[in-house]
Formats: sequence, C-alpha cells, structure tokens
Amino acid sequence: MRERGHTIAEPGEGCDAIVVNTCAVTAESGRKSRQAVRRLRQIEPNAVVAVCGCFAQVSPEEIRALGVDIIAGSGDRAGLVDALEKAVLAPKEEKRAPAEYLDDALSRRAFESLPAGGGLGRTRAMLKIQDGCSNFCAYCIIPYARGPARSMPLEQVIRETRRLRDEGYREIVVTGIEISSYSDDNQGVSLLDALTAICRAASPARVRLGSLEPRTVTPEFVETAKSLPNLCRHFHLSLQSGCDATLRRMRRRYTTAQFYDAVQRLREAFPLCGVTADLIVGFPGETEEEFGETLGFIRRCAFSGMHIFPYSRRPGTPAASMPGQLDRKTKKQRAQIAAKVADEMKQAFLRSCVGAETQVLFETEEGGYSSGHADFYAEVRVLGTGLAGSLRRVRVTGTDGGVLSGELL
Ligand code: SF4
Repeated sequence: MRERGHTIAEPGEGCDAIVVNTCAVTAESGRKSRQAVRRLRQIEPNAVVAVCGCFAQVSPEEIRALGVDIIAGSGDRAGLVDALEKAVLAPKEEKRAPAEYLDDALSRRAFESLPAGGGLGRTRAMLKIQDGCSNFCAYCIIPYARGPARSMPLEQVIRETRRLRDEGYREIVVTGIEISSYSDDNQGVSLLDALTAICRAASPARVRLGSLEPRTVTPEFVETAKSLPNLCRHFHLSLQSGCDATLRRMRRRYTTAQFYDAVQRLREAFPLCGVTADLIVGFPGETEEEFGETLGFIRRCAFSGMHIFPYSRRPGTPAASMPGQLDRKTKKQRAQIAAKVADEMKQAFLRSCVGAETQVLFETEEGGYSSGHADFYAEVRVLGTGLAGSLRRVRVTGTDGGVLSGELL
C-alpha cells in the first residue's frame, strides 16, 4: 500500500479503506478479528471494508455474515491492493457490491514475496523467507489456512537482506510459518545455508531467528551458528508438550529426549543463550499425569521465556474430533500453573545473566533511561538517552525480576 503511494490513517482520523488482517490460530483470535471488523466499521462508516488473512481463508462464511465489501484470504496479497483501489474509486452504488478473492490454499505452489520491512522506526525488520506448512500437526489450522510449505529463493533472500541493511535496520528477524522447512528447491539449499547467507549480508546488523522445530538443531546447525558472529544467541523452539504420549497424539515428530538434546547442544555451544519455547496445555486427552510430565520437562529445560496457550479447538483439524476434550476451566488453570513455572524460570535466567556482557539494540527511552533487547532476548535498561536505534555493548549489573539493568561499555 505504501509503495503505491497510500498512507496509513489512525482509527477516527478518516480514511477511504479499512483492511482487517485476520488470524485463525485460536478461537479467540477469530473472535477478536470479527470484533475488529465491527468496531472499525462503526468508527469509519463510509470506508470500504476489506477482510483478509487466515480467518477469512478458512471461515469465509463468518466474514460474509458481517457484510463487508471485500473478502480475501491469505494468498495474493498484492491483488488485494488492486481490489481496494478499484472499490475506493468505484461509484458509490457499485462500491457496496461485495467482492471475493479466495483461492484454494492447499493448491498454492509459489512463494508470494511482499516487501519486507519494519513497523515504526528503522530498528528491527521482519524478513519473511518462508510461507505455509506441510506438517499437519493434529491441533493446527495453519496448513489449511496457508497451504503447503514454500520458500523465498535464496538469491532474493540475500537481496532483501542487503536492502534492509542498507535502509539502516539494526536487527533482521528471520520469519516464516515453519522456517525449519526452508529450502530453495532450485538450488538444494537448507535453512542453515540461508541463515549463513543472511548473516553475511546483514552485517553489521544482527540477525535473530524465528521459531524453530527441534529437528533443525543438529550438531551441524549448532557448529555453523557458532561461527556466525552477528547471529543473536536466542533460539525459540516449538515444544508444545513435554510428554511423549501427548506429543504423539499431537502428531509432532520428535520425542522429549530429542528435544532435550537440542536444548543441551545449544547450551554447550552458547553458554549464555536465551532458549524460549511454545507450549500448548490441555490438549485432548491430556491427563493430570501427562500435564505433570510436561511441567517436569519444562523445568529441566530451564527456558528463559515461554509462550503458553490453552488448547483451542479448531474445526476441521483432527484434534477437534478427538475424545477427551477438556473444559475451559481446566485448560485455563493448567495455563496459569505453567505460566507460573515459566516466570520462575525466567527470573532464574535473568539472575544468571548478571555480570555478563551482551549486545543491546536500544529501542525506547523514558525518564533518563534507555531500554532495548539483549542478543539473548531479555529486556535491558541503562542510564542514558539518545541511544534508540543503536547497537551497543552492555555489562549486565542487576535485575528486578523482569528486566535487566546494565551499564554501557
Ligand atoms: S509445524 Fe507448526 S505450523 Fe506446521 S502444522 Fe505443526 S504447529 Fe502448525
């Protein structure tokens, strides 16, 4: 939209078009997406309303019921810009004729490139190198919403990385739906090759990896990662459950032993590194014992941070029709218990950082202090201003349990 000369308006500022990019990953995100459409339409009653993204892709009938102008899915995002321009410029009576741009996600083959970039400022940019997923974990709607795994060709990955570096970004986050399956089919390259090329092209900016599947963290991966000086010492792994029986029902393709090996490998190679993980609690059939196993396992892994989700039933996925669905209260309670353990582990990790040196990307300032993120992804605060947007070496001097304090070196 920006490339075509359009500008982004704040709600209430007046605008010609509203785009609601929906999410379907949980029932809650679907509900919020619908709510956003209703609320924005009230604020801007004359604007053309377009709804796109995963929720529109998998549940178009629910979006139709909202009576919007344009329904698009998670494909052909460039085409959505054309559709919006057409609708905005159309005479008023035509403008309200609803248009739908939906394809069959499962038949997508090509990677659709969109200009990479950051949000506000020129600090951190997201570089999406991969889309879709072919794993079909039992609980997950993503393969249906996004289609099969596709990758950005390596040459383009390098070009985009250089562009972001030249635009002045200080950190490039490598993202995708399932980046572990990255492969440039024409050249037989893997995520590790792409990561090496990205780190070289990004320098002096640093590179952070998005979510990894544990199978990616092989001895070779760790060896190579160690040799990349501008790769952040932060690894986010999809765990989902710390119990082997639950992992099998989830159709995840690793055991807790394999996962633990991956964590150990990372810690041996990077004595101080952030290892964070995703967890789903209350999966169908998860007994108290199984949940207990998960708690024991996450403690053993000593994660520096976790994203915890109560299982959300997604219609159309195998898990939605599995026996042993748990009630909302049990799932919520388990999420709270796991979150408490995660918080204790985070605090222990922060204490272990005191005395260490790290590189911080400063983002904000307030009351004479500047804050940013360490390469191992903890928030760090130092005394001083005028640092936003810069990468600086810092010695960690203390922690208040949530944030690290430090001094510039
Ligand atoms: S690997 Fe991730 S995106 Fe793919 S199906 Fe499993 S949970 Fe969903």
